[in-house]
Formats: sequence, structure tokens, C-alpha cells
Amino acid sequence: MSEPKSAPPTAAPKSCPVCGKPAQPRFRPFCSARCQTIDLARWIGGNYRVPIAEDEGSSADEEDE
Ligand SMILES: [Zn+2]
Repeated sequence: MSEPKSAPPTAAPKSCPVCGKPAQPRFRPFCSARCQTIDLARWIGGNYRVPIAEDEGSSADEEDE
């Protein structure tokens, strides 16, 4: 029973596999429900296009990078 544990019991803050943002406990391992849906869609179909309409009516000129 002398197993050196280097990794802490608590999970480290992972990054969202979709956008790379810090994952939220509520949507982990994703950061939001949107990324969760995107990843789910990827699972359903590799090239399935996800109609992302977060801000309907707003132009896509505000790129939050
Ligand atoms: Zn994300």
C-alpha cells in the first residue's frame, strides 16, 4: 500500500474539447450547453452540421476569440 499518488483526488480544471475554454462543472467536460450540443452532434454524425443560432438576428461580426 505504498502507491505514490502524484495526481490529486480532485479533477484539475480541464479545457472544453470544443472551444478550449475552461470547463464548467455543470457542463463538464464542456464549458457550456452549446459546446455540449456541438460535441453531441459530432458523435451522432461526423459531418453533421449544427445550426448554431445563439443570437438570432445578430450579425456574426463579433467574433469572441
Ligand atoms: Zn466550449
